[in-house]
Amino acid sequence: MDKCSFCGRTKKEANMLVAGLEGHICDHCIEQAHSIMNEELGSKKNVSFDSINLLKPTEIKKFLDQYIIGQDMAKKIISVAVYNHYKRLMQKADADDIEIEKSNIILVGETGTGKTLLARTVAKMLHVPFTIVDATVLTEAGYVGEDIESLLTRLLQNADYDVKAAEKGIVFIDEIDKIARKGDNPSITRDVSGEGVQQGLLKLLEGSIVNVPPQGGRKHPEQKMIPVDTKNILFICGGAFEGIQKKIAQRLNTQIVGFGASKIRDKVDKDNLLQYIAPQDLRAFGLIPEIIGRLPVLSHLNPLDRDALRAILTEPKNALVKQYIKLFRMDNINLTFEDGVLDYIVDRAIEFKLGARGLRSICEAIMLDAMFEMPSADATDLQITIDYASHKLEIINLKVLKAS
Ligand code: ADP
Repeated sequence: MDKCSFCGRTKKEANMLVAGLEGHICDHCIEQAHSIMNEELGSKKNVSFDSINLLKPTEIKKFLDQYIIGQDMAKKIISVAVYNHYKRLMQKADADDIEIEKSNIILVGETGTGKTLLARTVAKMLHVPFTIVDATVLTEAGYVGEDIESLLTRLLQNADYDVKAAEKGIVFIDEIDKIARKGDNPSITRDVSGEGVQQGLLKLLEGSIVNVPPQGGRKHPEQKMIPVDTKNILFICGGAFEGIQKKIAQRLNTQIVGFGASKIRDKVDKDNLLQYIAPQDLRAFGLIPEIIGRLPVLSHLNPLDRDALRAILTEPKNALVKQYIKLFRMDNINLTFEDGVLDYIVDRAIEFKLGARGLRSICEAIMLDAMFEMPSADATDLQITIDYASHKLEIINLKVLKAS
């Protein structure tokens, strides 16, 4: 008589008996095996989470290279910082009293040069919860303390409320420059709580137990706060720090004095002063020294030139062009671009001063009608010509594009 080769249940006793080559398995045993497997894989996940599949810095950079064009210095600095951060998480408490400190990161560069992309890609590589928060929201809200805590709400939500996972996650704080003290910086207009917000952030950056409202905001006063330890959360801050070049130039000028000064001065690349950025420039810009101290890893991102923008369209793993080709392929349509179309798109992005961010809006504008109509058409090929692209761009409202 057929029976389960694992538990011995007969066909009658089991709801179902699945036949194999030389035996059978019943529904009970299938379910049990399934839960054992889940448990095993789950605990393995945790193990690899602790050891976080720790790639070496050169390997981390290689991973980043797949998604981010250029920005070699930033990628190198981040690779080392991330590697050290997670080594720190693995350090044994009992060891030798040497404590590896946290390597929170601050990235300075024009908008659309890849700061968020870098942070997002690092989180993707590590499989840790990730969230992006905007520092400007904190300035506007006023009630500083509470809002700063709710920075972690999104992280918690992205970690499916798994506090342990969230405590090893990455938070990207965008527009950190907007909470700088006003000082003599003309671009900062809202200073009501700039320094207060910085003080509040400090608590998070240095590591403390923070009571996080699980649903965020102050709309749910009845919600039970969840304590989250920020000690091991990696914070990556980003900002354009518009006008900081002036501070850098001033510092360089006062530093480069004396014998041989003019030689050194000639070597300074005045078109990209950001590459010389140092912590004291952040201070001159209006970040308080305590915050700067908690963001020990400082890197700049270069403005993207024409070649970089052109490469961004086609080279990264998720390159825009690859995405459109895939979208159309799913409708069995072979999408191609006439020679010169991609250069045309890059030229428009430069013309509108939209940088990499603009590539997407320009492509969308060009592709919209085709994406709307082609899936219901019979065609199997679509070639985007320069005429087609320029026609589509003309008819959409360029003002809207410029404002985006
Ligand atoms: P930032 O945070 O510096 O303002 P983002 O990282 O949000 O800029 O960049 C906006 C978009 O532009 C990204 O989603 C990405 O598609 C593209 N992008 C920007 N810089 C790069 C880069 N260096 N390599 C590849 N894509 C980039």
